[in-house]
Amino acid sequence: MITFLPLGGAGEIGASCFYLNINGTGIVLDCGMHPLKTGLEALPKFDLIKDLPVDYVLISHAHQDHLSALPFLVKRHPYIRIITTPQTRALAELTLHNSISLLKEHLHNESKSEKNSEQLQLYSHQEIDLLIQSIEYKAYKENFVINGYNHRSKFPITASFVDAGHILGSAAIIIEHESKKIFYSGDIRLSDQAIIPGAKIPSMKADTLILETTYGGTDSNSILNWNEEAVRFAASINKILISGGSVLVPVFSLGKMQEIIALIWNLMERKKIVSTEIFTGGIAEKISRVYDYNRYVVNRIDPEFEINSIPQKNLYEIEQPEKFFKEPCIVLAASGMMVEGTASLNLAKYWLKHDKSAIFTVGYMDESTPGYRISNAVKGGKIKLNDFSEETEVRCYIERFRFPSHAKREELLEIVKQLKPEKVILVHGDADGIEWIGASILKMRKDIKIYAAKLGKEILI
Ligand SMILES: [Zn+2]
Repeated sequence: MITFLPLGGAGEIGASCFYLNINGTGIVLDCGMHPLKTGLEALPKFDLIKDLPVDYVLISHAHQDHLSALPFLVKRHPYIRIITTPQTRALAELTLHNSISLLKEHLHNESKSEKNSEQLQLYSHQEIDLLIQSIEYKAYKENFVINGYNHRSKFPITASFVDAGHILGSAAIIIEHESKKIFYSGDIRLSDQAIIPGAKIPSMKADTLILETTYGGTDSNSILNWNEEAVRFAASINKILISGGSVLVPVFSLGKMQEIIALIWNLMERKKIVSTEIFTGGIAEKISRVYDYNRYVVNRIDPEFEINSIPQKNLYEIEQPEKFFKEPCIVLAASGMMVEGTASLNLAKYWLKHDKSAIFTVGYMDESTPGYRISNAVKGGKIKLNDFSEETEVRCYIERFRFPSHAKREELLEIVKQLKPEKVILVHGDADGIEWIGASILKMRKDIKIYAAKLGKEILI
């Protein structure tokens, strides 16, 4: 018997975490933290599996919403075996250490506001070191056995990772037992980005497909393809630089930063963007190094290309933000959604005052974030960065671009077509996305059973 139980990431893009029980073996798929929640609220609902077997956790990729709750799971289940790709392991080392300081900041802010939501027990850098050492890694396409302690079948459970084309090391996970095959997409993209090539779906039939639906609710006509969007991006950047302004691009440190700097550099080398200084820094620089180390090991658009060979200045070395406006420049700063306390939001406050400069957003913005408010503001208008702040004037240009690292919705349907599953479980998306994908699959094939994953609601597969 195989059961599937969502612990997080059901009906929303949040703390992705799912539990599979295959004949007595407990397998956790991903272990993320909600990027916008704090305290215990941000964690998956681990209590749902406290009396169940928990043998393995397989991690699809190193983004916070798929990985960062791992130390908390390991505290509860010290004997759990953690398996991922070598690249995700290397990135996890950076992001888990980094998340300690982020968590500390959250706790600090919470105790200040005396909100007193249940607090997280923090872990130490030493604990993270031990955890990283215990992570086992398997290359793409390598088969491995994951029978648990109480495995009740004479047939083994095997698993393997397939390149998911999302960020470095990202994987879809295939789990096989007897004649059953489960395909978990993780976060997946089928078309090329600047560095990471799109995923190739293996020719196989899956019985159950667990599918992300991030872009399920987005009309693909509203997103240009990558190269067309790059032309538009270049034109807008040039307009600002030539008129003497500077461009701020808020990006996530892992994935988006590397793709956007590669994109900008390619455009500069082809003389499509005026040559100018680029500022980056922080953890993104270390992450780029891991990208560079692995350039011959995993699929790349151009294995010769090294991110850290691009001339970059460290934005954290600039003490007076006004310096960014002395000469035209491009600044790539985290976080992508300009959340409180991050470099991109702090810089945006200066950018808003400069009428020749521009803030160009390139990714998804949650409605609750300052980034959402900024990306929807217009030059000449007024803006409140949060409910409590004063209104300020928007003097700079603001424009929105889209360079997604997820499959568009037609591509999600393509995955269903290729894998021919009997059952599809929809995860990692909002209600609109799940509804559109569900309805579209049924139009294609009436005999597929479709489930929208619900927190704590078990599905028999
Ligand atoms: Zn991701």
